[in-house]
Formats: sequence, C-alpha cells, structure tokens
Amino acid sequence: MGKKKSLVGTCELCLREEVEVTVHHLTPKELGGTFLPTALLCYPCHKQIHAIYTNEELAARMNTIERLRDDEQLKSYVKWINKQPASKLIKVVKSNDRKRRSKK
Ligand SMILES: [Zn+2]
Ligand SMILES: [Zn+2]
Repeated sequence: MGKKKSLVGTCELCLREEVEVTVHHLTPKELGGTFLPTALLCYPCHKQIHAIYTNEELAARMNTIERLRDDEQLKSYVKWINKQPASKLIKVVKSNDRKRRSKK
C-alpha cells in the first residue's frame, strides 16, 4: 500500500481505452470511503474531478461514476478529453500501442 504502481486500462469517466489509470475513491478516504466503491480514472480525469469538487461534495453528491458523468461541469471536460489521443498522456508506451480504436 502507498506505493504507486501504474495500471493501464479504461478510464471509467471518459471511457478512453489503454490509458494509465489510478484508483479514485468515490467517497474520499478522508470521509470514510476506504472500503467503499472506487473507480479507475485516467490522470487528467482524476485531477479534474478533484479540481472541481471538494471532498465534501464528492462524498455528498458525486459518489457514483454515473453522477460524475452526468454533471454539467464534467460533461464539457469529458467531451474535450475524449478527443485527446490516449498515447499522449501515458508515459509507458507499449509497443503495440498502434491498435488504438478510433471511436467517436
Ligand atoms: Zn479519463
Ligand atoms: Zn480521487
């Protein structure tokens, strides 16, 4: 625990595939979320969420991925990030990175 390992997967917010993801506690750990559901988010999404909402807001009303996805403040961001190529944002590029799917 406490060690950062990088994980490549699909971001649950922007749904981009093969991006580096981190674990987000939908209810912040500081507010009792240690054993509550988590979501895998890419770095930009994770940063964005914490930039927009305080821990209290996250715990009170943004504690599911659906609510985050539905929020006006995040919607425009998600639209934007979706256009960003995944490979640009990950440091460890796999050799078969070319098979990125282009979905609209
Ligand atoms: Zn994302
Ligand atoms: Zn988080």
